Amino acid sequence: MAEMTREAMEYDVVIVGAGPAGLSAAIRLKQLDADLNVVVLEKGSEVGAHILSGAVLDPCGLDALLPDWRDMGSPIKTPVTADNFYMLGEGGKIRIPNWPMPPLMNNHGKYIVSMANVCRWMAEVAEGLGVEIFPGMSCSALVYGDKGEVKGVVAGEMGLASDGTPGPNYEPGMELHGKYVFLSEGVRGSLAKEVIAKYDLSKGKEPQKFGLGMKEIWEIDPAKHKLGTVTHTMGWPLGSNAGGGSFIYHIEGNQVYVGFVVHLNYQNPHLYPYMEFQRFKHHPMVAELLKGGKRVAYGARAISEGGYQSMPKMVAPGVALLGCSVGMVNVPRIKGNHNAMLSGKAAAEAAFAAIGEGRASDELAAYEAEVRGGAIAADLKKVRNVKPLWSKFGLIASLMGGGFDMWTNTFGFSLFGTLSHGKTDAAATGKARDFAPIAYPRPDGVLSFDRLTNVAFSFTNHEESQPCHLHLKDASIPIAVNLPEYAEPAQRYCPAGVYEVVTEDGKDPRFVINFQNCVHCKTCDIKDPSQNINWTTPQGGDGPNYPNM
Ligand SMILES: Cc1cc2nc3c(=O)[nH]c(=O)nc-3n(C[C@H](O)[C@H](O)[C@H](O)COP(=O)(O)OP(=O)(O)OC[C@H]3O[C@@H](n4cnc5c(N)ncnc54)[C@H](O)[C@@H]3O)c2cc1C
Repeated sequence: MAEMTREAMEYDVVIVGAGPAGLSAAIRLKQLDADLNVVVLEKGSEVGAHILSGAVLDPCGLDALLPDWRDMGSPIKTPVTADNFYMLGEGGKIRIPNWPMPPLMNNHGKYIVSMANVCRWMAEVAEGLGVEIFPGMSCSALVYGDKGEVKGVVAGEMGLASDGTPGPNYEPGMELHGKYVFLSEGVRGSLAKEVIAKYDLSKGKEPQKFGLGMKEIWEIDPAKHKLGTVTHTMGWPLGSNAGGGSFIYHIEGNQVYVGFVVHLNYQNPHLYPYMEFQRFKHHPMVAELLKGGKRVAYGARAISEGGYQSMPKMVAPGVALLGCSVGMVNVPRIKGNHNAMLSGKAAAEAAFAAIGEGRASDELAAYEAEVRGGAIAADLKKVRNVKPLWSKFGLIASLMGGGFDMWTNTFGFSLFGTLSHGKTDAAATGKARDFAPIAYPRPDGVLSFDRLTNVAFSFTNHEESQPCHLHLKDASIPIAVNLPEYAEPAQRYCPAGVYEVVTEDGKDPRFVINFQNCVHCKTCDIKDPSQNINWTTPQGGDGPNYPNM
């Protein structure tokens, strides 16, 4: 194919991803200098369409960015009024009292929000300041300058045919060049992954760790709805098969967010995270709450869990990684939005100062210094041993040891130092022959649903004629390696039913990728034991269309 030439547009800062990190960066840049040219590119059909987060929001990020946010018509309306934590058994529960928990775990003063709606509102604030925001624009490639620096991105390429050649409605997209490019793609960003590999940014750091978060929105019987109530659970149904737990948040409109996180370092390749979530809703405590209600939305997204010791170097020439593209989730608090916002603010301040000095396309070392020396690292450092303790010694040890460590860290020290995570989640996957298959009950269609029925409630859409955006490095591996060794776990770990092994009489098994179902959670890119799946961005506007997630 002849070399592609595209129109180019020049900006001061190009921001990839309209999540809390990217939007905070955009807002802060324009607060600092209204004349800066700032553009935000978002692959979702609208801002918020791909945002899936609990969420209990710690407002410290917004307080720093927009101190008057309470008077700015934000959709942040539901303060947390009750905070419950239960250890579940199959039929019962034990309430863990709040008093032994370190203060950082307290949810009072926090808000239950739809982060999708918060992002929609932040986008309005940003546009009001003069930021250009283009939804429906996937950034599919990085543009490098002569010295190997990141110079910009390619965005908006549309209309490729399924074989990757230009189709009849082909649009080549354009190059957007910036003095600095911010990658705020969220967890396992596809461009961030390229930058981390190219500049070896993870060198000397612990591997990043992840969970898979799945979430449904339910409208429930108003008599059972308790606005502002937050409930977290651990234990059943995962037991010792995997780390993880649930959240149930009561938000406005008689809605509850029912979510379930499975740590992706589980060993048993027969584990089926989606079915664990469905099974969880049959616990008497949850079933009683949901009975008579209806599920109105479903979605899934990976969540970064490596924390403090896994944050890669976050700057390279011309580029900075923000928010969960670095991995800034405080795991025991299940909160990352506040750090995403703080990182956006810090990156903006570093870029503003650099541009003011006449610099461009170099490393924003001041941004990295602020993250590692400021509020974000302080938040993450206190909890850095909870995840490794859980991975190595299980739930109870993590509750006791992790709780103790969080307390001592509250007073500025740890007896454990900084524990390592060890393996990647992909490498943690064990061989199928060493583990028993797990029998999951069939969904009843009332409280629990099969995957494809639920995916319809993510309102996911992909143009079928485009190339599959889930690339296999070696097409033979799913059947030749993953099937005999790991019972091809992609069939189970994908929460959207994208991957199937089809066996027809008299024929060899086939690996089928239903990319149209993909909800952009990135779990396949993370958990495939052979690290053979590369998640790339499909064309803009495709993917889920989350309402008020
Ligand atoms: C199930 C679940 C529950 C959670 N609960 C909470 C909670 O209660 N409280 C809390 O504080 N945090 C919570 N988190 C964590 C929180 O969601 C993240 O920390 C936060 O979303 C990180 O923000 P971000 O801006 O870095 O990325 P994101 O919010 O993921 O935003 C990234 C944006 O970039 C876009 N994008 C990505 N790649 C491209 C590309 N190549 N081109 C164009 N656009 C692109 C995406 O579509 C998306 O809109 C939860 C996470 C999960 C998965």
